[in-house]
Amino acid sequence: MSIEESADTGLRLDEIMSGAWSQAELVDALQEIADGVYGVVGFGVAAISVLRDNDELEIVAVSGNAEAREELLGKRRALSTLEADIAMADWWGPLCFVPEERVIDRLEDPGWVPDVIPVDDVNAWKPLDFLFSPLRDDVGDPVGVLAVDLPADGLRPDEDRQRLLQRYAEYSAKAVNALLARERLTERLRLAETARSIVRTASAQLNLDRILADCQQAIVQGFGAHGMWIQTFDDVGGHAHGAIHSSNGLSTELSPELVEIADAAARRCWDQQRVAFVSRRRPPTKDVLTADERDDVLEFLDQIGIASLLFVPLGAGPECLGNLVLTRTEQGQEWTQVEADAAFDIGHDLGRAVLNARLFEREKKLLDEMRELDSYKSQLIKTVSHEFKNPLTSIVGHLELLESVELDPMEGRSIEVIARNTGRLQRLVADMLLLSSVGDPNRPLEAKPIDLRVVIEEVHEIVGVQAEAKAIKIAVDAPSEPVCAAGERDEIERLCVNLISNAVKYSPEDSEVSVRLERHAETVVVSVTDQGLGISAGDQERLFDEFFRSSNPEATQRPGTGLGLAIVKRIVDRHEGEISVTSEIGRGSTFEVTLPACN
Ligand code: ADP
Repeated sequence: MSIEESADTGLRLDEIMSGAWSQAELVDALQEIADGVYGVVGFGVAAISVLRDNDELEIVAVSGNAEAREELLGKRRALSTLEADIAMADWWGPLCFVPEERVIDRLEDPGWVPDVIPVDDVNAWKPLDFLFSPLRDDVGDPVGVLAVDLPADGLRPDEDRQRLLQRYAEYSAKAVNALLARERLTERLRLAETARSIVRTASAQLNLDRILADCQQAIVQGFGAHGMWIQTFDDVGGHAHGAIHSSNGLSTELSPELVEIADAAARRCWDQQRVAFVSRRRPPTKDVLTADERDDVLEFLDQIGIASLLFVPLGAGPECLGNLVLTRTEQGQEWTQVEADAAFDIGHDLGRAVLNARLFEREKKLLDEMRELDSYKSQLIKTVSHEFKNPLTSIVGHLELLESVELDPMEGRSIEVIARNTGRLQRLVADMLLLSSVGDPNRPLEAKPIDLRVVIEEVHEIVGVQAEAKAIKIAVDAPSEPVCAAGERDEIERLCVNLISNAVKYSPEDSEVSVRLERHAETVVVSVTDQGLGISAGDQERLFDEFFRSSNPEATQRPGTGLGLAIVKRIVDRHEGEISVTSEIGRGSTFEVTLPACN
């Protein structure tokens, strides 16, 4: 379809504007429009330029004269020169005309000048005459230019020709706008894909080095960068060592001064929530680098053959966590605003991933330290209790010998006190040894089916004496058939003894302790309820810690080591069960243990 048809029907323009055309098709359409200006309007040369991201106009279609074509295609000039041209032009409707006289006065470099001899007419076209139409977008901002030269009849165009030319300028504006929209869309899609893949990769990793290594390729490819550099600050807001990793695998060391400059610039960029560009070809980004810093960076870029860089802060919330630098060589294009926006978003995504990884690493380190401390504590408890055991046995032996000796009442009382305290020490040592044994990760559980009804019956007998002394009734509620859990008999029994004896110990006289046993599909549940002192919410949080004793003075008056529940908790953990407590001060407590069931 020719441009004349399009001028008649407008069909082709509809298609152009529909967004269905590819970039190549749109450039072809601009070429056809330029050809129309040449063939239909009658100019020997027509050139259409398009505004590029760095405020330059690039000629993308030239028709007519081969010499002009050769000279002009791909040529760029600053948008500011268009503004200067407009300022000195006469307005022919929407067309701008600068007569030769004015061009000669103003231009040092007149550009391409056709080699023609003007015709003999007052309206003759002069070699330096300049006729063009600025192409604008919906809001009136310039997006390109249609410029013409060499009228076929050698005359400056009359009004009819001006009108025709104007029509082509309108088509050009529409096609240029469509081309720019299409380019932006393509770029956005490409960068969105990059960003998505980075987020995907980064969120799947919790190791910082892996995140950075994995992202590198996606970012370099997505942005068509020559190389990239990621620098992360260390945890305490300190500074990291930096190196530039090129996409070809080479890496360049940065001097400490440059690392420091990048460091400070990242924080400034993060504060301002923006990226920065560093290139000799574009003005400096404001308030990011001082003039001296910029010179240092540019000098360094010259040394390593880099023409421009896009500087992106990494961060999360108020915290700047590092920077990402993308580089391009002289052959690479200038960074576009769409790229800058996408890179900025990646800085946020990556920042979050860096923060997650850092928190994870911190947590892991803390956990390792706690484990180490825990193992040290267990070892200490084990050693100390062993060291106590033999002397205590010896003391008990000698006390037994003294039982057969006739003593005066004073001596007898002293021996009694010694015997009572020795008993307490022996119980403490026994609890400590048991605690380290049930907490020993190297001692595997030898589980067998255990009928909890039998265990509770035996425990009832053991604790019965203590309960009777306080007139406490222990009521057991258990099913008639076996209730089996998989576990170690002695440990399960110990678990029940500790819970039921605590219930008795911390209950008033004449009260009731109830023990309930239930069988569920996959689990068995033992619950022990008393009408005793109850436990405050604060105490409940630390109940299972070793050596914890309640802050309630009424409770601490009763003898205890603070190890009973710690032992219970470790036994439950070893059996892959769960324990919970509900309690109210002055009303009583219920401890509930759930263990895996077996048949
Ligand atoms: P202790 O040897 O002191 O009884 P435990 O580890 O068995 O050590 O219990 C820790 C603390 O929890 C006790 O000092 C007590 O204050 C509180 N406690 C445990 N069981 C009960 C309960 N049934 N009622 C009230 N307080 C309890």
